[in-house]
Amino acid sequence: MAEARRIDGKARAARIIEEVTAATSSLTAETGLQPGLAVVIVGEDPASQVYVGSKAKRAVECGFKSVKHVLDADTSEAALLDLIAELNADPDIHGILVQLPLPPQIDEGKVIQAIDADKDVDGFHLVNVGRLSTGAIDEAFVPCTPAGSMILIRDVLGDDLSGLNAVIVGRSNIVGKPMAQLLLAANATVTIAHSRTKDLPALCRNADILVAAVGRPEMIGADYVKEGAVVIDVGINRIDAPEKGNNPDGSVKTRLVGDVAFEAASQKAAAITPVPGGVGPMTIAMLMANTLVAACRAAGRTPPR
Ligand code: NDP
Repeated sequence: MAEARRIDGKARAARIIEEVTAATSSLTAETGLQPGLAVVIVGEDPASQVYVGSKAKRAVECGFKSVKHVLDADTSEAALLDLIAELNADPDIHGILVQLPLPPQIDEGKVIQAIDADKDVDGFHLVNVGRLSTGAIDEAFVPCTPAGSMILIRDVLGDDLSGLNAVIVGRSNIVGKPMAQLLLAANATVTIAHSRTKDLPALCRNADILVAAVGRPEMIGADYVKEGAVVIDVGINRIDAPEKGNNPDGSVKTRLVGDVAFEAASQKAAAITPVPGGVGPMTIAMLMANTLVAACRAAGRTPPR
């Protein structure tokens, strides 16, 4: 079989950003309303700082008002809930994102449920989870990573996945479960696998659509992939890359890999996302799209789809 088509998530995300920017420009010109995104980060975790920085930067590029709240690592739950209440009440803010994980003194669930469901652009609030799982997808905010993955799947296979088997490896609330709901809504026959699943390779070899959201570097090898499958690699794992040499401080350089062994899986798949440059850029693009939708709803306008 020919080598798989490489699904270019970076280019697809750039197109979404262009569309969001154009729609934002019309919305602001016609109504005076500028979409506002608030990102909140607690503590100094370097990876979280990078994520939050790129989200805030992208928001500005889209023409949004972008507000970043950086709180000390020892911030109390009550102080964070006060900030959420302020942002909920602020008419200039349409989307609120709290970067996870939060420090141990703060109950993540409590914070997520405190966000106004209409400003919950991450799609983690129970109201949005409920909307998605009852099929009211157009009214929900769908979590950004599965929403972006679904666009890449539709680009390859079309809107109706009737008759196709989808296997998702990973059952988290932010990736695996919402991904399953989206695939089910598109008529795929869906199986969710996890660490207790027996004979995972055999199960995955039954998948026309295989989504890996595990967090284990290159775990999904060629023996997990059906000939002609569409493979979506959500995983982002940083591993040592001694071949790149050392950093100035003597530590070994690193590189990013997915949950899928890309080269090996490419020999069997029909289409596959790379890491980096696959699902990652789509996640940020969908956050911008969700924020625009929130602003349109606040302005009483039909959001673009
Ligand atoms: P979680 O750690 O919350 O979930 C991992 C899931 O994988 C769990 O359901 C776990 O099973 C399952 N799992 C772990 N080991 C195995 C195994 N050996 N066999 C089968 N299943 C296994 O991770 P997330 O869903 O938050 O993230 C998954 C990956 O996606 C990570 O690499 C993360 O960095 C990345 N990610 C990427 C994003 C992007 O923008 N591209 C956004 C979000 C996440 P069990 O439930 O039984 O423990």
